[in-house]
Amino acid sequence: MHYFTPKRCSTSNKIMYHDKAQAQHAADQSLIERGAELWVYRCEYCGTWHLTHRDPAHEHTYVPLNQQIKPHSRKKGYKPRWR
Ligand SMILES: [Zn+2]
Repeated sequence: MHYFTPKRCSTSNKIMYHDKAQAQHAADQSLIERGAELWVYRCEYCGTWHLTHRDPAHEHTYVPLNQQIKPHSRKKGYKPRWR
């Protein structure tokens, strides 16, 4: 009897998939079997593909520098509403 024993990433301890299609298939299976939506992303440490519960697009939301620190705008006509 042969079991599929997935290798795990030494950094994230996640199951390693060798290509994106394989990982995507596992993600689809998870959604079908458990109703758990998973996201596929490529690991920067081991170079294989992992699944994550969180949407990586949301996780790495990049905020441009000029929007991080907004100087208090003193635009003409701007009046804070004090109530
Ligand atoms: Zn990894």
